[in-house]
Formats: sequence, structure tokens, C-alpha cells
Amino acid sequence: MRVDELVAISRELGEEVDYFIAPAREQRGPVGVTLRAEVADLQLPDFSAAINAFIDEIEDAPLPPARVTVKATKPEAAAKEILTKLNKLRPPVDVQVVARELGVAVFARPFPNALSALILRHGKNAFIGVNSHQAPVRQRFSVAHELGHFVLHHADHHFIDYAGGLEGEVPGYDWEHERAANQFAAELLMPEAMVKKDARTTSLARLARRYDVSQEALGFRLANLGL
Ligand SMILES: [Zn+2]
Repeated sequence: MRVDELVAISRELGEEVDYFIAPAREQRGPVGVTLRAEVADLQLPDFSAAINAFIDEIEDAPLPPARVTVKATKPEAAAKEILTKLNKLRPPVDVQVVARELGVAVFARPFPNALSALILRHGKNAFIGVNSHQAPVRQRFSVAHELGHFVLHHADHHFIDYAGGLEGEVPGYDWEHERAANQFAAELLMPEAMVKKDARTTSLARLARRYDVSQEALGFRLANLGL
């Protein structure tokens, strides 16, 4: 169909022309473009290739409707608000469900080691890519961390999380954002109210299994909560 035909039809029907032109594809382009430009400047060719392949793959992927919106702006408060809205009272917290309810699609992909996870915003939704080579507990934490960037509105379009060592030298790195995303992830996966009830009654190893987190992450959490 030609554009002039489309315009004529839309006049007949009283609809905007935009209504007929696949909006998802039209709107997704610019988001991926800024990310592609950023990784093109990195001195890590396999890394850039992996991210470009990921963008190609998600460009037409469906996004879940956002059913939960978050009003809180502080990391812990935002995580608590989500758990309350999802009526989550017992561990483990399913990050896949949390992501879906927030309108975020999650993809586990065999990224290079230097890439831990990334988030690509699309309007009120987002895509998360997480490195499938990581241990499952690490992937869960990475997804929760990216959801922190998402609900705390840390980046307009995208956010890349590099595996250890590269931080500080990479574009857009902001330690305050990283700390906030980690605080959000810790409260989401190891909610203070649940952990305080459980911590005195069982061992670290059993507790880590119950919350489906690493013993290291749980150890940090208990120390931070003064337990
Ligand atoms: Zn991050």
C-alpha cells in the first residue's frame, strides 16, 4: 500500500495514519540506536557484537503489559511497594514474575563474560538481557538489579552492567546508581521483614537456599540489617 492510499483510507475512517503503521517497530528504533552507538565506541568487539545481536533479536519481541507501577523513589521503599502490591509474603521472590508485572521482558543469553546484564527501556516497558553463563542465583540478582535501574528511573534509554573490573572506566558508570540498584535488589530478594523473622532460626546455607540467593549476598544482607 502506498502512503497516499493510507492517508486516504485513514481519512475515511477518521483515524490517524500512525494507527496503521506498526507503532512498536517505529518506536523501538531510536532506543536501540543510542545503545548501538555507545557500544560501537567500546574497545570490546565481541561485546559490541553480542549487544547488537541482542537488539536485533528483541526489536520485534512482545512486551508484557505493565500491571504494577511504582510510586516510591527510594530503593528499599520501591522494592517493598512491589512486594506489597504482589502480595508476596514468603520467599523465594520470583524475579521473572516481578519483571512481567512491571512490564519488563527478560532474556537470558550467552553474553561475553564482561557483560553481566543490561536493560533497554521502551516507553513504559523495558527489555532486560542477562548473561546465561552466570550461576542461576547470580542471574536472579542481576535481573533484580536491572529492575532497580528501571523502577528508579536511572537511565532514559538503556543501562549496561559490566562484570567486575571494568566499572569506573565505562561510559555512564555512576556508583550511586549502582549502589541504589543493589539496595533495591537486596530488599526485593531478601526482604527485611521476612529475613528478620527467619534469620535466627536456621543456618546461612539453608536460608540462602530458601531465598534462592548466594550465601555471599545473604551474608552481606544480614550484616547490613545488623543480624
Ligand atoms: Zn547497574
